[in-house]
Amino acid sequence: MLQPKLDIREITKNYGNSAALLPTSLEVATGEFLTLLGPSGSGKTTLLMMIAGLTPASGGRILLDGHDITLQPAHRRDIGVVFQNYALFPHMNVFENVAFPLRLRRKSDAEIRAAVNRALGLVRLDHLSQRLPRELSGGQQQRVAFARAIVFNPQLILMDEPLGALDKKLRDELKLEIRKLHGELKKTIIYVTHDQEEAMLLSDRVVLMNQARIEQIAPPVELYERPATPFAAAFIGESNLLDCVVTPEGKLRLDDVTLDTSNTGLLPASGEVTVLLRPERIRPSADGALRGTVTDLIDLGAMRRLTVELEGGRSLTVTTLGGGMQLGLGARVCLAVSPEDVVPLAPVAAGRGK
Ligand code: ADP
Repeated sequence: MLQPKLDIREITKNYGNSAALLPTSLEVATGEFLTLLGPSGSGKTTLLMMIAGLTPASGGRILLDGHDITLQPAHRRDIGVVFQNYALFPHMNVFENVAFPLRLRRKSDAEIRAAVNRALGLVRLDHLSQRLPRELSGGQQQRVAFARAIVFNPQLILMDEPLGALDKKLRDELKLEIRKLHGELKKTIIYVTHDQEEAMLLSDRVVLMNQARIEQIAPPVELYERPATPFAAAFIGESNLLDCVVTPEGKLRLDDVTLDTSNTGLLPASGEVTVLLRPERIRPSADGALRGTVTDLIDLGAMRRLTVELEGGRSLTVTTLGGGMQLGLGARVCLAVSPEDVVPLAPVAAGRGK
C-alpha cells in the first residue's frame, strides 16, 4: 500500500484486567470502504471509538495521512462520525444540525450555505432543511447524520452500525444509498456492523473480528470462498465444517471417503484438519463419492435445503435450487463436490494474531 490514509499500529484497549482490544495493526487505503464485522463484544466499537478519539487507547499509535493523532482530541481530528442513534441536536433544524461542524470551524455564512446545501442534496433532503429532527422519519434523521458527517469534507468517515435502529426495508434502501454516496464522494469510510450482508454489499475489504482481535482481513468474496479459520467459515454464510484426516500420502479422508481438493497448499503435512464445504457447492450426482440418506427437507421456494446423513454417520446440509431434482425424505443420494470447493481451514490456534 502507498501511504495509507489510516495506519493503526499495535493499538490496544484494556478495561481493568480485561482486553476490549488486543494489540491490533491495520492499514486503510485512501478511498477504501473498510468494514469491521463481528459478533457483539468482539471489539469493533472500541476500535472505531479509538480512531474517532472518543475512547483513549491503552497503547499503540494511530496515524492519519502520516500524522500521529493518537493523543489528539476528537474535535481536532479531521474525521466525520455517524452513530446508530443519529445524535442530532433536537432543538436545531436540519440545516443547523448539518451546519454545526462548519460553525465549530468558524466558516463564513456563504461557505456554510453552499456546503450544507451540497451535503443535503447528496442525501436528497434539500427540501426538508427547515424541519426539526422530531418532524423526520428515522431514515431521514439518519440521512441528516450522514450529511453532518460529510459536510466539512473530512479525511475519514466512521460509521457505527448506522442502520441498526431502522427497519429492514429502510436498511436495505439506505445500504444502497451509502454505497452510492461512497462511489460519489470517494472518501475513506470505516463502517461497523454485525450484519454480514451489509458487510458483503458495501465493503472493499472486511475486517472480521472475534474476541478482541482480528480473525481475518479480506475482500468479501475471498472471505466467503477462502475463510482462513473455522470461525470465519461459520460466521460468513452457511457452512459444513468436517473434521478430516490427512493421510501420510497427502490424501484428505472423510471417514472412508477420499475428498479431492485443489487447495493442497492449505493442507497440513499430516494429522487432522477441518474442511469447509458450502451447502450450495454440494450437488446430487450419480458418481458422487459421498453417499447418504435424506433425513430432512425444507422447501424454501427458490431453494431447497436438505439434511443428508452420510454412511459414516455425519450430517451434511445441502442446498439445491428449487424445481430441480425431486429428492424425497428417506431417499438415498450420492453427493459430489468440485475439488476447488473443498477448503481446508487453519486450526484455530494458527489463525490467531494474524
Ligand atoms: P462490539 O462493538 O464488537 O460489540 P465493543 O467494542 O463494544 O464490542 O466491546 C468489546 C469488549 O469491551 C466487550 O467485552 C465489552 O464488554 C468491553 N467494554 C466496552 N466498553 C467498556 C467499558 N466502558 N467498560 C468496560 N468494558 C467495556
